[in-house]
Amino acid sequence: MRVGRVQTFHCDGGWRPWTFVRVETEDGLVGWGECTDNKNPYGIAGCVRDFEDLLIGQDPRHIERLYWDMLRRARQNLGGVSHKAMAGIELALWDIKAKALGVPVYELFGGPLRDRVRLYWSHCGTTRALHGGLLGTPPIRTLDDVAALGREVVRRGFTALKTNIVIPGDPASVYFPGFGRGPNTTDGVLTVEIQRAIERLIGTFRDAVGPDVGLALDLNYNFRTEGALRVARLLEPFDMQWMEYDNWDPRALLQIKQATATRIASCESLVTTRQYRPFFELEAMDVAIIDVPWNGFAEAVRIGHMAETYEIAIAPHNYYSHLADLHSAHLCAVLPNVRIMEIDIDDVPWKADLVTRPPEIRDGHVLIPTGAGWGADIDEQVLREHPWPAPA
Ligand SMILES: [Mg+2]
Repeated sequence: MRVGRVQTFHCDGGWRPWTFVRVETEDGLVGWGECTDNKNPYGIAGCVRDFEDLLIGQDPRHIERLYWDMLRRARQNLGGVSHKAMAGIELALWDIKAKALGVPVYELFGGPLRDRVRLYWSHCGTTRALHGGLLGTPPIRTLDDVAALGREVVRRGFTALKTNIVIPGDPASVYFPGFGRGPNTTDGVLTVEIQRAIERLIGTFRDAVGPDVGLALDLNYNFRTEGALRVARLLEPFDMQWMEYDNWDPRALLQIKQATATRIASCESLVTTRQYRPFFELEAMDVAIIDVPWNGFAEAVRIGHMAETYEIAIAPHNYYSHLADLHSAHLCAVLPNVRIMEIDIDDVPWKADLVTRPPEIRDGHVLIPTGAGWGADIDEQVLREHPWPAPA
């Protein structure tokens, strides 16, 4: 068996591209991997081309060797788009190997520990605030609308949700000081107004969903350590599932964790066990977030096992198409320290059609897929119908 073709495709995901690597063997077996990052899709596609000569003509089942061949070429660029390109290729290679053997990918990693994984509804309110016009979802004009959304989450069977700093209004907005333009975009200063807005938002969600539903707030990289700690403390009365906060300094994160009762989740942007190691050694977070489309599958499994040795739970970073949902479900299938899995529920209407078999969600859980490979393929016709960039 030899690799005959390596391609990258972008699919219009409404407000962001989804990025896929397709590897085809000379005898026509096709494997898919998702490596969406929404930031540098052209960079990822370019890096996939940079790796092509290492792959063409090689046995796609020798995944560990091919991974190291790619890593030796790219390690001076460790992290970023080159690693995401490697991950997308590696995921496609696992798909091919598992399909050739007629088994799901998780069977190659010891078999499943579970048949379902609990989910949290991610970007809850965020997507409706930013893209509700495109999706036709109910507006977030007032805190009553936030409460209605919280009740909808519960009614639809979910037991956890994650939001961002959503500011109800007409139109609603989301406070992302680190992104976009405007006052405070670079400094990331936590103002009294934003503290009050967070208290109102999370207080409204908590009242709406009741005490038993997991509530998470994602600050991303916004705010300096002091500001993030202040948010963690003001969240204490709401008994959060976690406050999510990204910071490249493990000691900064530890400082927050040790100074608050709020649970801290972090590290979604890290790739390789090497980058996670200093965070684990300090036990700098309560929950380690792992991104499969950015790490590849075998490395994500290694990071998960490493977390386990430090008694740290993991949760996949997963806000992509359904193919990545499957990658993340396979990761949760084989790890013994899974807290919960992220998934985006509000999304474009063609999301389900883009895969040949969308993941099955039941009672707030995703069922571990049972088909060969990842359990579904990209539907190439649907992919062609939604090119990115979308035609003007
Ligand atoms: Mg996050």
